[in-house]
Amino acid sequence: MGYRIAIDGPAGAGKSTTAREVAKRLGFLYVDTGAMYRAVALEVKRKGLNLADRAEIINVARNSKIEFEWNSGSLRVFLNGEDVTDDLRDNEIGQLASAVSVIPEVRDILVDQQREYGGKFDVVMEGRDIGTNVFPDADVKIYMDASVEERARRRLGDLKRKGEDIPFEDVVREIEARDKRDSTREYAPLRRADDAIYVDTTGLSFEEQVEKIIEIIKRKIQREV
Ligand code: C5P
Repeated sequence: MGYRIAIDGPAGAGKSTTAREVAKRLGFLYVDTGAMYRAVALEVKRKGLNLADRAEIINVARNSKIEFEWNSGSLRVFLNGEDVTDDLRDNEIGQLASAVSVIPEVRDILVDQQREYGGKFDVVMEGRDIGTNVFPDADVKIYMDASVEERARRRLGDLKRKGEDIPFEDVVREIEARDKRDSTREYAPLRRADDAIYVDTTGLSFEEQVEKIIEIIKRKIQREV
C-alpha cells in the first residue's frame, strides 16, 4: 500500500496545480481523477450520446482505457491510446464530466482504477470524493476551498489563456451550478471529510498554497514517526 494524500474540493479551488506541484516536490505520483471523468465525458461527446443514454454511457466508462503518463511534473492523459490531454480542459467537457459523474456505475468503474493507483504507489490524488469514498483511510486528507468569485476569476484566467472568452457572470453561474450538482448528488457527493484539514486558498498565491499543503503533510508525517 502506498502513502495516500487525498485532496478534495470544489472546481477552481486550486487543487490541480497545487496537487501536481506537491506531488512533484514529494516524489509522489499525481493522480487527477477529474481528468478521468473528463475523458469519459469526451468519449460520450464524440459518440454523440446524450445524458439519457445511461446504459451506453456506462459502457463507454467500462470500455474506455484511461491512462496517465508522467513526465517531470507534466501529466498527459490517454484515452484508448490517444493523447487527449489538451481536449479535456474546455468548459463544455467540464460540465459534461459533472453530469456523467452522477452515474454510480461510472463512478465505481473509475474509483476501482483510482484505488489501484493508491494500492501500488505513493500518490497525491485529487478530486471530489477521495477522502470520503476512494480512500476513507487516506494518510492525509485536505479539503481546498476558495470563494466563488475567486474561483471564477481563476477559471476565467485559465479559459482566456486557452482563447475562450466567457463573461465573468456566466463563469460564476457555471461554477455555482457545478458546485450544486457535485455536492447534492446522491452517490459520493462532494463533501469535506470529518478528518480533512480545511485550507481556504482565497487570496493565497500558488507558492503559498503549495507551502501550506506541504507543511500540513510534513506535520502529519512527523506525528507518525
Ligand atoms: O476537477 P475537474 O473539474 O476536472 O472535474 C470535473 C468533474 O468531474 C467535476 O465537476 C465532478 O463532477 C467530477 N468529479 C467527480 N469526482 C472526482 C473528480 C471529478 O465527481 N473525484
